[in-house]
Amino acid sequence: MSDKNIPYKTYLDETELPKAWYNLRADMKQKPAPLLNPGTLEPMKAEELSGVFCEELVRQELDDTTPYFEIPQEIRDFYKMYRPSPLVRAYCLEEKLQTPAKIYYKFEGNNTSGSHKLNSAIAQAYYAKKQGLKGVTTETGAGQWGTALSMACAYLGLDCKVYMVKVSYEQKPFRREVMRTYGASVTPSPSMETAVGRKILAEHPGTTGSLGCAISEAVEVATSTEGYRYVLGSVLNQVLLHQSVIGLESKIALDKYGVKPDIIIGCAGGGSNLGGLISPFMGEKLRGEADYRFIAVEPASCPSFTRGKFAYDFCDTGMVCPLAKMYTLGSGFIPAPNHAGGLRYHGMSSTLSQLYHDGLMEATSVKQTDVFQAAEYFARVEGILPAPESAHAIKVAIDEALACKESGEEKTILFGLTGTGYFDMVAYEKFHDGKMTDYSPTDEEINANLVKLPKVN
Ligand SMILES: *Cc1c(COP(=O)(O)O)cnc(C)c1O
Repeated sequence: MSDKNIPYKTYLDETELPKAWYNLRADMKQKPAPLLNPGTLEPMKAEELSGVFCEELVRQELDDTTPYFEIPQEIRDFYKMYRPSPLVRAYCLEEKLQTPAKIYYKFEGNNTSGSHKLNSAIAQAYYAKKQGLKGVTTETGAGQWGTALSMACAYLGLDCKVYMVKVSYEQKPFRREVMRTYGASVTPSPSMETAVGRKILAEHPGTTGSLGCAISEAVEVATSTEGYRYVLGSVLNQVLLHQSVIGLESKIALDKYGVKPDIIIGCAGGGSNLGGLISPFMGEKLRGEADYRFIAVEPASCPSFTRGKFAYDFCDTGMVCPLAKMYTLGSGFIPAPNHAGGLRYHGMSSTLSQLYHDGLMEATSVKQTDVFQAAEYFARVEGILPAPESAHAIKVAIDEALACKESGEEKTILFGLTGTGYFDMVAYEKFHDGKMTDYSPTDEEINANLVKLPKVN
C-alpha cells in the first residue's frame, strides 16, 4: 500500500478488539526473577500474596508460561466505552520536522482518567468484585491511576480508598475532585492514619511524599481491613499483562498496512505502558521472528534504568511489600518534587528490568525542561496537549526523527502517547514563566540509597 494511503487515524472496529491479553513472560528465555518474601527470602507463594492481592490477579502475577489470558466479556464491554484507541500517523509532525521518518503514536488519553491506566484498573476492579470483596486500596502519584481506579470501582460498585502522594495532592486539587466525583476517598500521603505513615513522618518531617510511601500506607490499610485488597497501577507483571492491549491493538492496525516499526519508544515510570506497548513486538523479537529497537525514556530526576542498580529491593518505602529484582534507586529514594509526576517511582517492572539487563531494550533519560519544550511543540503541531509523562516519549521520538533527517534514513517510529496533560497546567505554567528547573540527583545521593539495598543472594 502506498504510504499516503495510510489515514491520519486508524480506529479498529469493535470486533477487532483483542480477545486475550498477551503474557510476554511466556516467551522470555530469562524469566524475570520471582518476588521474594522479605522475611525468609524465599519466593512468595500464592497463599502469601493473596492476603494482599485478589486471587485471580495473584495467578496472573505468578504465571510465567501461559502466553494468552482471555479478557473476560465484562471487561471487553467496558473497554468498548473508550477502546480501541486510535493509532495516529503524525503527518503534521513529520512535515514540521521535515524528516523522512514515518511517525506513529498510539493515543491512550481518550477517556476521563486521561491515561492508559484504565486498561488495568477495570481488570483489577473486576477480579476484586468477582471475589466478593467490598473494596480496594491503592496509591496514586500524579493522580491518573487513582482516577482510573475510581472510575472502574464506581462502575462495578466497589469502595475505593486512594493514598495520594502529598506533593501531587497539593499541586493537583482537581484530580482529587475527579476521584471524589467517582466516589473514592482520597488521603494525602504520608498521613497520620496509618502506622507506617506516622513512622515515615517522624523520620522525614515535612516530606512531600513518594509513591513508595503511599504504597506502604495503602497496603497497611488493605491488609488490616476485612474485605479489602490492595491494587497497584504499574510495575507488576499483571499490570503489564493488562496493558498488552495497547501493543496488540497497535500491531493489528499496523499489520493492516503492512507497516513494521523500526523503533518503538515509550516513557517509563514503573514500566506498564511501555511493557504493554512493546509486548507483541518484543514477543516476535524473543521468538526470533522480527527485530525492533525498543527505547525506554525516563526522567533525569528519577533515573532507575540509567543510573540504578539491578538488584532485589523493596517495592515501597515502609519495607512491608515483597522484594522484587529490578533496576532500582533504592526504596528510600525520594525524588525531588518535580513534574515528571507518574514517572517518580524508585524501581521498575522486573520484566522490563530483565529485558534491559539482557540487552533486548535500550533506555535513556531526559531533562524536564527539554521534555516540556517537546510537549509544547507537539501540542502546537499535533493538537493534543500531552501529559508530561507522555512528553518524555515525544522528546525522544522527535530526536530520533531528527537523526533520520541527518542521515536521510526513512525509519518508522512508533511511540506511546499515554495521556493528556489538562491537570498539569501548573507545571506548564512554570515552564512558560521560565521557573522550571532541571534536577538530577548526584552520585552521592544515589549511592546513599543504594548502599541500603537489602542483602539477598
Ligand atoms: C502513570 C503514567 C505513566 C507512567 O506509568 P507506567 O507504568 O510506566 O506506564 C505514563 N504516562 C501517563 C499519562 C501516566 O498516567
